[in-house]
Amino acid sequence: VFSPVELAPRDPILGLNEAFGADTRANKVNLGVGVYCNEEGKVPLLRAVQKAEEARVAEHAARAYLPIDGLAPYDLAVQKLLFGTDSALLQSGRLITAQSLGGTGALKLGADFLYRQAEKRLVAISNPSWENHRSLFEAAGYEVVDYPYYDPATNGLNLDGMLAGLEALPEGTVVVLHACCHNPTGVDLALADWAKVIDVVTRRKHVPFLDIAYQGFGENLEDDAFAVRLFAESGLPFLIASSFSKSFSLYGERVGALTMVTANQGETAPVLSQLKRVIRTNYSNPPTHGAKVVAAVLNSPELYQLWEEELAEMRDRIRHMRIALVEKLQAAGVQTDVDFIQRQRGMFSYSGLTKEQVARLADEFGIYAVSSGRICVAALNTSNIDAVANAMAAVMKD
Ligand code: PMP
Repeated sequence: VFSPVELAPRDPILGLNEAFGADTRANKVNLGVGVYCNEEGKVPLLRAVQKAEEARVAEHAARAYLPIDGLAPYDLAVQKLLFGTDSALLQSGRLITAQSLGGTGALKLGADFLYRQAEKRLVAISNPSWENHRSLFEAAGYEVVDYPYYDPATNGLNLDGMLAGLEALPEGTVVVLHACCHNPTGVDLALADWAKVIDVVTRRKHVPFLDIAYQGFGENLEDDAFAVRLFAESGLPFLIASSFSKSFSLYGERVGALTMVTANQGETAPVLSQLKRVIRTNYSNPPTHGAKVVAAVLNSPELYQLWEEELAEMRDRIRHMRIALVEKLQAAGVQTDVDFIQRQRGMFSYSGLTKEQVARLADEFGIYAVSSGRICVAALNTSNIDAVANAMAAVMKD
């Protein structure tokens, strides 16, 4: 049974981590990572999380199963975070939220659910997008195409291309949209652009699937939910995959949620029942710890405030690193425009580095980035930024 099995293709980012691990240079830097690191270069344990965990351990609670769709106070808190505490949707009977295994799990639940219901099984993702979008939807049985998004000429958004691309898709295509802090480019839609996207999506009867993995990393928790809330106002049915991996620094606990907004109250019960079938036949019910911790923080005014402060610290640190990187690149003599790095949002920057320049950074300087030129700005700190800026400048100037 196992002898015909062929080796699966290597994950490019894992390969990069291996090369970084094998590099013996003391001042090596890994900009390929997809996690937030603090000034000490470590994944932080947030104080709000620690406090919630201490309280939970002190409870010595028994470990019964959670319901199939997860912890109810968690699911409700996720809805409030997405739509706002005073959103009419909360009382509308049109919301379904199921706790999931991170944002990835939420996307997979949504993919499996839609696959069973839909006649057309076509998904459109942005070009470029988070690597796993394509693989995940293909593995779920979909044909995956992309719509224009990033414009290398401006290092910004190709809005006209994006709108035309969405227009040209067959009616009813599932359209994956990054709600904020686009991964990998860091390029987001302006607020006015979202209304145009909603207009096309509505006319073409597409199925919007919003992916929000960085709420709080752009502007703040409220503003980063702008796209979600505009879709909510539109009255369209849509799906949202939430991830708390980054915003709570809870990567390994796998805390996420799938939320579905139905067109009317009558749709909700059948949709929930089908979603529960998807969950039940996959992993039965979700794990307890991460959701308990996140629910404790989101539902306690004191812990929520502490969390918001810590989230702001992470966001501000990344912003300062962007400003410092631009200044240092310019000081090191880079003539080309690099201001766009400052305008990008979230943890990542499409730096404009070519594949060859990325290879030189690794070979000559021990600085590792993704071959697309994506760098993790959250991996920069005051100890490594000079080395990174000087090395980038060296390969950009030649
Ligand atoms: N969507 C996007 C855009 C992401 O960048 C990520 C994580 N890198 C995810 C979803 C998945 O998040 P999680 O780790 O919670 O599964």
